[in-house]
Amino acid sequence: MSVLYPKVVFIGLGLIASSMALAMRAANLCEVIVGHARSKETRDVALEIGLVDAVFADPIAAVQDADLVVLALPVGAMGEMAALIGPHLKAGATVTDVGSVKVAVILAVQPHLPVNVHFIPGHPIAGTEFSGPHSGFAQLFQGRWWLLTPHPEIDTQAFARLCELCRKMGAKVDQMDAAHHDLVLAVTSHTPHLIAYTMVGVADDLGRVTDSEVIQYSAAGFRDFTRIASSDPTMWRDVFLNNKEATLEILGRFTDELAQLQNAIRLGDGAHLHAYFTRTRAIRRNIIDAGQDTSAANFGRDAKETTTKS
Ligand code: NAP
Repeated sequence: MSVLYPKVVFIGLGLIASSMALAMRAANLCEVIVGHARSKETRDVALEIGLVDAVFADPIAAVQDADLVVLALPVGAMGEMAALIGPHLKAGATVTDVGSVKVAVILAVQPHLPVNVHFIPGHPIAGTEFSGPHSGFAQLFQGRWWLLTPHPEIDTQAFARLCELCRKMGAKVDQMDAAHHDLVLAVTSHTPHLIAYTMVGVADDLGRVTDSEVIQYSAAGFRDFTRIASSDPTMWRDVFLNNKEATLEILGRFTDELAQLQNAIRLGDGAHLHAYFTRTRAIRRNIIDAGQDTSAANFGRDAKETTTKS
């Protein structure tokens, strides 16, 4: 397979960067991979396990002669990083990011990049609750969507090359307006995370149910909440602070519908509850039909694990 970018530089060496580095190496999509992360520990690990050929404590040194720079750090840190590295980028280089929010990242990053650098914002819709350079795996992007939100006047060759890179890492690529991306993700990812964080917090606060009961008798739904709620706190703090409007809009709708369901329970309105749950069940079927999840019971976990399901 052909090399798409001779020198790739990752700024941030966590789950997404390490998965990209492994996927790029597996498909020979680059010749050299260089990295920068904040802590010496992360840089040392990335070098030791062969994610990168070289690491730099100084991001400016890292980006020298880069053909592709990937901003793979929390979205709140991207603007400051762009200001630092912007003046040191090679003419004709491409910069992309993998942040979960797009409008705020574009506003923070774009002004710091020279006009002869192609900035193509992106977001792989793939992840796990784990963080750090050890957590990556080359298959993370297989069959998942990679959303790109370029400026309408983006250089078409630079855009086509990044699309090819994403596809060769196993992803399906789609192009979207940045504000629309943020609304879609508020529905499909950001608000659900907030609900999971809240439910786990409520269980933790509830004096009448002991911590050991919560752990011992946790049903499948709650266990999924705890998995989601164990995601990186810095990443998710930054997501909510940078996708404020869309998240608040969806959260407003969520609380309205929750109040209606609450009312139906109070009034014993079984017809309302049944109709609502029938509609949501159909949405689950559509997700499976679109190949975005497994139809196996309890997400394909083994039978032993499902015994606590209530
Ligand atoms: P992660 O595993 O927590 O790694 C974050 C990396 O960024 C670490 O290497 C960290 O360095 C570095 N970092 C943090 N702040 C920094 C700063 N100020 N300067 C330099 N480096 C800094 O994160 P991730 O899950 O890969 O997420 C990276 C990005 O991808 C985020 O913007 C997130 O929104 C997006 N994303 C995540 C997922 C997901 O499921 N996790 C999915 C799609 C997109 P140290 O280790 O030295 O602290």
